[in-house]
Amino acid sequence: MKITHVGAVLLQPMPWVLVKVKTDEGLVGIGEAYHGAGVHQIVTDPRLRDRALIGQDPRNVDKLFHDMMSSMSASGFYQGAVMSAISGIEMALWDITGQACGVPIWQLLGGKFRDRIRVYNDCHAGDDETPEAYAEKARAVEARGFDAIKFDIDPRPDRRDRYNRTISNDDVAFFIEVIAALRDSLNPNTDLLIDAHWNYAPVDILKVAYAIEDLNLMWLEDPVPPENIEAMAKVTQATRVPICTGENFYTRHGFRDLIEAQAADIISPDHAKAGGLLEGRKIADLADMYYIPLSPHNICGPIGTVAVCHLCAAVPNFQVLEFHHLDNEVWNTLTVERDLIRNGHIDLPTKPGLGVTLDEETARRAAREDLGFF
Ligand code: MG
Repeated sequence: MKITHVGAVLLQPMPWVLVKVKTDEGLVGIGEAYHGAGVHQIVTDPRLRDRALIGQDPRNVDKLFHDMMSSMSASGFYQGAVMSAISGIEMALWDITGQACGVPIWQLLGGKFRDRIRVYNDCHAGDDETPEAYAEKARAVEARGFDAIKFDIDPRPDRRDRYNRTISNDDVAFFIEVIAALRDSLNPNTDLLIDAHWNYAPVDILKVAYAIEDLNLMWLEDPVPPENIEAMAKVTQATRVPICTGENFYTRHGFRDLIEAQAADIISPDHAKAGGLLEGRKIADLADMYYIPLSPHNICGPIGTVAVCHLCAAVPNFQVLEFHHLDNEVWNTLTVERDLIRNGHIDLPTKPGLGVTLDEETARRAAREDLGFF
């Protein structure tokens, strides 16, 4: 079997990047790359497509992953938009391989530990920035079947000096009040997650962390900027609140120092940019050697989300998968199979390959037509 075509499409309003790989035997694979400037163009860049993919057997996924990186070796091959494009293509190669072998992708990744994948809903409180509004939103999402829910504690615009990373006393008090109201409003068995979006200095975010230690959060995410692992480790070691990070790291090499230093309690790679599914398996295994759970970051449409579900099923240390797009019309209609998330879980597909089918009509309607369609 040989690859004959690699194409991409950029959707809107969410700029999801879908990838299609076609073969001379009629099998077609689909994947999704983390969106970002130029990613859909990199997917079809001749250096990547022609040098590493066209004419090759798509079932040699790991070899092609390495070939894609070396073909882009002058272009920041191991991270950024290039690795996002490679990740989406890698998923499509697994889809083809699964179809060719007659098994789901999770089978090819080592088999499954679980039949359904727990997802958490990432929420935004809306315009009303009061603890009561946060609590009301949390209860509404919980009532729709989610038992893990995330909110952000971003700097409030009117109070922000975003350069020195400090938190005013007012905001420390506000964040503590919001988190306590959220915790109070939810069923005790519903998990609460808080994301600080890399905004704060260790000494400042620890003021918030110390005050919420008894509220039993599932995690506090990205308390400090991601580049300095020692600073992250300092926060992780200083508080009983579990610390989660990982969405800014690429490939197992990007995760090695973080995991080996145990600088976070939970890791959250985004597999649509961190290297795809097999690289995700390797990152998960490295984390598992330190008993660190894997909770992937995910803002993909349903294609990328389901692809990552295969990985989540195939590793022991999976914890929970992010979901961002409740009530998003395109998300809900982009696969022929509908209602993928039921009761806060995605049932693991059992059909060969990815196991869900792109709804071409929705894709065409959402596509940036001026940029082509696969
Ligand atoms: Mg985050």
